[in-house]
Amino acid sequence: MFASHMIVPVPKIEDRVFKKPLLCGPGPCDLWPSVAEAVTRPVLSPICDEFFNVLADIRAGLKYLFQTESNLVLAVSASGNAGIETVIANLVAPGETLLIATRGIWDERAYDVAKRQGINAVQFRIPFYTTFSLEQIERELKKLKPTALFITHGDSSTGTVQNLVGLGDLCHKYGTLLIIDTVVSIAAEPFFMDEWGVDALYTSTQKALGGPAGISPVAFSKRAEEKIKNRKHDPPFYFDIKFLAQQWNCYGNTRLYHHTMSPPLIWALRCCLMEVCKITLPKFWERHVQTTAQFHKRLQEYGFKFLIPKPEDRLVTVTTVVLPSGYDYMEFVKYLRAKHNILIFGGLGPTAGKALRVGIMGVNSSIEIADTVAHAMADTLRALTKSSL
Ligand code: PMP
Repeated sequence: MFASHMIVPVPKIEDRVFKKPLLCGPGPCDLWPSVAEAVTRPVLSPICDEFFNVLADIRAGLKYLFQTESNLVLAVSASGNAGIETVIANLVAPGETLLIATRGIWDERAYDVAKRQGINAVQFRIPFYTTFSLEQIERELKKLKPTALFITHGDSSTGTVQNLVGLGDLCHKYGTLLIIDTVVSIAAEPFFMDEWGVDALYTSTQKALGGPAGISPVAFSKRAEEKIKNRKHDPPFYFDIKFLAQQWNCYGNTRLYHHTMSPPLIWALRCCLMEVCKITLPKFWERHVQTTAQFHKRLQEYGFKFLIPKPEDRLVTVTTVVLPSGYDYMEFVKYLRAKHNILIFGGLGPTAGKALRVGIMGVNSSIEIADTVAHAMADTLRALTKSSL
């Protein structure tokens, strides 16, 4: 009937078939086979019992994952960047100060996010290949007495891990809330939200948790909850924890409809948590340590160098590798994909053009994969030398 109104013809959308590479970049990572099945489970309506039961399972799994007894634990329906928006917008009002300990790209992102919300965002930097000492942080806290401190636990742009022990107490001494990015560290690096005095964190599913991107768990401490309860500003509606907490039943059986969550992602997150619970966190952390130790040993045998000088600063999930001079990082990445079908990334932000970023985590954390990737990288190094002779 309306055919004569059509100005855009039917496009040709054909199947795109490709051989999935082994995902060994800083993320997204490969899925648990069970997660690939979980995303095909039935659609859940956001008002039925089954749906709320699944949310309850997820909240129990997240409390275990974060090691927190806090009630304000749930997941935001969007990728990791939404986690940044959510924790900042809910805890820091326009005009208040957010101190950002900056060593990589996610800290720069937090700065941009905060600025757009009218927050007085203040950065202090260290060289990207190092991590912060408590003394460095205390100097800045003393000067500014900020509402919150933002710091990244595992930095996927640099391959560093920040020691968080003692940071919560330090922040609280100055009346400051502690906000942590745990996107590429959670489940792989030990993390203790309550014991370490963390007030807010966000993470994401597509790294060591072995799920698809698009859903981002967040958690808030009692102290953060007080701030949220008493705040005078309204964060964006979609990320408002006051509503989300009612949809996720953080305070009893409230069952508010806020938005339609994605059933495949909800099922996937639940399944990722089941996998981690099956293994248990201490064993999963140990598995990452063993795998990465093997990977690093092999890389050294093949003559590769690490970007991060101090071994204790190196993140267990993402390794930043320096190539001998004369090699092109993008050419290396392309060859590894073309010849071995392994996907790794070049540098990002401060490491662009300076390193490769190789992620071996989650379902891929095994000695066999560590050996395979190191071997393929050694072959690539040899092949590119030959081609340039
Ligand atoms: N923080 C860290 C440490 C990350 O590695 C990433 C993603 N690479 C993000 C935040 C942002 O997550 P997303 O791309 O899922 O929005």
